[in-house]
Amino acid sequence: MRALNDPDSSGRSQLVREYEEALAITFDAPQAVAVNSGSAAIETALYAVGVTPGRSVLVSAAAPLPTLMPIIASGARIAFVDSVVDSPGMDPADLAVQLDKNPDCAAAVEVALWGYPLSHQEEVASLLAAARVPLIEDAAHAHGSTVAGKSVGTLGAIGCFSTHRMKLLSTGEGGFILTHSVELADSIRRYSRLSNLDGIHSARNFKPSAFTAAVGLTRLSAFAAEVSTRRAKAALLYQLLPAPLKREVGHIGAPNYYNLVVLVDDQVKASRLHLALRVAGIETDPVRFRYRPGTEHQITGQWARDCPNARRLVACAIQLPVGPTDDPVQIANSVAQAWNSLCE
Ligand SMILES: *Cc1c(COP(=O)(O)O)cnc(C)c1O
Repeated sequence: MRALNDPDSSGRSQLVREYEEALAITFDAPQAVAVNSGSAAIETALYAVGVTPGRSVLVSAAAPLPTLMPIIASGARIAFVDSVVDSPGMDPADLAVQLDKNPDCAAAVEVALWGYPLSHQEEVASLLAAARVPLIEDAAHAHGSTVAGKSVGTLGAIGCFSTHRMKLLSTGEGGFILTHSVELADSIRRYSRLSNLDGIHSARNFKPSAFTAAVGLTRLSAFAAEVSTRRAKAALLYQLLPAPLKREVGHIGAPNYYNLVVLVDDQVKASRLHLALRVAGIETDPVRFRYRPGTEHQITGQWARDCPNARRLVACAIQLPVGPTDDPVQIANSVAQAWNSLCE
């Protein structure tokens, strides 16, 4: 392994540059900057677009805690936007209201949760553009998801990815950032690389090591195949699901199938299904990660407002696994059993 013999195994290694070039090609983005986590990617993106303490940042109320924490850490105020019915993206109508209420808003963060490209993407983008608010995509779930041939993570000003073990492209721990803008890429590099300190700007050390880059370079070559396998498994699993569960979360484009996510139409039934699935060995997000609406964490309490669509989505969305070791036939059988046990 080249990284082991590299005299500079830090983030200044040539391997990191090569990894960044490979990322730019894979995701068809002019600029790619590798960092050491998805959290660091989001913090860096917020800095690059000019988020400073006290400004507000718009974020979908369906966003999970890892999306929210870097915003809170930046010192910004969170302005929650309710999600669209049955989909994690921002509701354009509520976005317009929140833009009016938060004229100091410095950025908006959207999350293509579970790898689903967000419905109403274009309306959201044009509302933000009209208000001159930059869009940051938290694409930590969405490596390889596309809309009209474009990668999720290249649809706004900046796209942020994690390469943590559980994500579709994994380096164990790690992350990267995509952008079209040379100026934003400069600012991203300045903030994430302490070696660029110039006495004026501040920075943090978010560089990945040469080892991370080497792993990333190797795994990138297997990445496209993994996405197509997931898509095939998701299609088969969907086909085998009980008829009442054949309602997929709202989306556009081509998801990467980080998860196959279906919606139960009744909240009480949904909460019983989450528990029955756990008994069957399938852990959905509310069970596994304590996933809940962004407004319902202690740390976001000061910005809480009622967001009924996000609340309903979190309650009713059932995340099903379609990864390399998951057998769709077996998963479908477990789901059918769990579902039937509710109807007894
Ligand atoms: C994993 C994840 C992050 C954070 O990435 P890390 O690499 O774990 O720091 C951020 N947002 C979402 C949606 C995630 O799933």
